[in-house]
Amino acid sequence: MTITHSREYAQKLDMEDSLASFRREFYVQENSIYFDGNSLGLLSKRAEQAALDLLAMWKQEGIGGWTGGEHPWFYLSEKLGTQMAPLLGARPEEVVVTGSTTVNLHQLAGTFYKPSGRKTKILADSLTFPSDIYALKSQIRLKGLDPDEHLVQVKSSDGHTIDEEKIIEAMTDEVALIVLPSVLYRSCQLLDIKRLTKEAHKRGIVIGFDLCHSIGSLPHELSDWGVDFAFWCTYKHLNSGPGGVGALYVNEKHFGAEPGLAGWFSSHKDRQFDMKHTLTPAEDAGAFQIGTPHVLSTAPLLGSLPIFEEAGIENIRRKSLKLTRFLMELVDQELHSYGFHIRNPLEDERRGGHIYLEHPEAARICRALKEAGIVPDFRSPKGIRLAPVALYNTFTEVWDCVQALKDIMEKETYKKFKNERGVVA
Ligand SMILES: *Cc1c(COP(=O)(O)O)cnc(C)c1O
Repeated sequence: MTITHSREYAQKLDMEDSLASFRREFYVQENSIYFDGNSLGLLSKRAEQAALDLLAMWKQEGIGGWTGGEHPWFYLSEKLGTQMAPLLGARPEEVVVTGSTTVNLHQLAGTFYKPSGRKTKILADSLTFPSDIYALKSQIRLKGLDPDEHLVQVKSSDGHTIDEEKIIEAMTDEVALIVLPSVLYRSCQLLDIKRLTKEAHKRGIVIGFDLCHSIGSLPHELSDWGVDFAFWCTYKHLNSGPGGVGALYVNEKHFGAEPGLAGWFSSHKDRQFDMKHTLTPAEDAGAFQIGTPHVLSTAPLLGSLPIFEEAGIENIRRKSLKLTRFLMELVDQELHSYGFHIRNPLEDERRGGHIYLEHPEAARICRALKEAGIVPDFRSPKGIRLAPVALYNTFTEVWDCVQALKDIMEKETYKKFKNERGVVA
């Protein structure tokens, strides 16, 4: 060990932190350390105000809110898509706020999965979030095919990460569509989106990404990389609140593609109220909306997105990497004798915004952490995710969290809890 960190050093890092002032924008509870912003981001005061303003608009204007006021609801999904586009490295018209991760995956697979001839398979990975796999299997079934045969899941050799080489090897001439996460939800591995997209396109395969764990945490260059489509939720790093409306990206080269799941909100805005039985789809990503937007669950983004614009996603990424690096160094320094294993990739360019520890007693260690006022994220059977978020967490909190863990292990206070997960974990 060459460096020895201290609480004073953590405080010094906080003093030097150019994003430190953003913490005051959020409802951070006293005597609590929130390291679960990658599952549900905290409420910001601006997001709260945006939701209240929306309620006031409804109260005062009734149906007039669809076309009146500062943010007419009829155009809200497109407007927020435009505002979000810089986080994706996308053109404004390539992004729309709509649906949810899973619904948007159904929409995009319903649109871009076109099995024909030899090309009938979907390529995914074996570590991705279950909902994505359920959706892909049902899309295969809807085409009259057998998921056991037509869904190919690239295996992991270490149980935590997926080798990009293996993904590329699996891009055979039987693959019609590839869907992968940008950042794996457990191990936090960041895949090389640019390289995978290039390799898919060399083979004439359409490729899309689930950005749930990278959006708002790190920058993307979707347009430059030529990614065909992407989808994500907004309640994790983007802090839109529980069930906040998700979003999707469709590369402009696919504009005009018939939406797999059409509805009247797929319409060209000027034609929607013609009420014809023949759909005239929007000429941009808006075509992939389905029905009336969930305006109340969209509103918080009006407050939350400007925070990202002001902070700058490059700065957020820089601090995030520094926080997770610091956390890993402290785990090495303080917890090496207690049986924790860091299972996320260690390199900056292969790591997203959280740290993934494994320990056989993880479930009850997480309970002890909660009792100590720290909110981690338990992932069955033995995973602990810790997400120090750049916009509202501090280096001192990282220090205090590791000291709390050390205390729990030293005094074995975790032993008073059962080592099993709750219903939601
Ligand atoms: C959080 C998450 C989801 C959740 O999907 P919803 O439709 O929003 O419930 C899906 N995929 C990944 C990778 C996630 O991290």
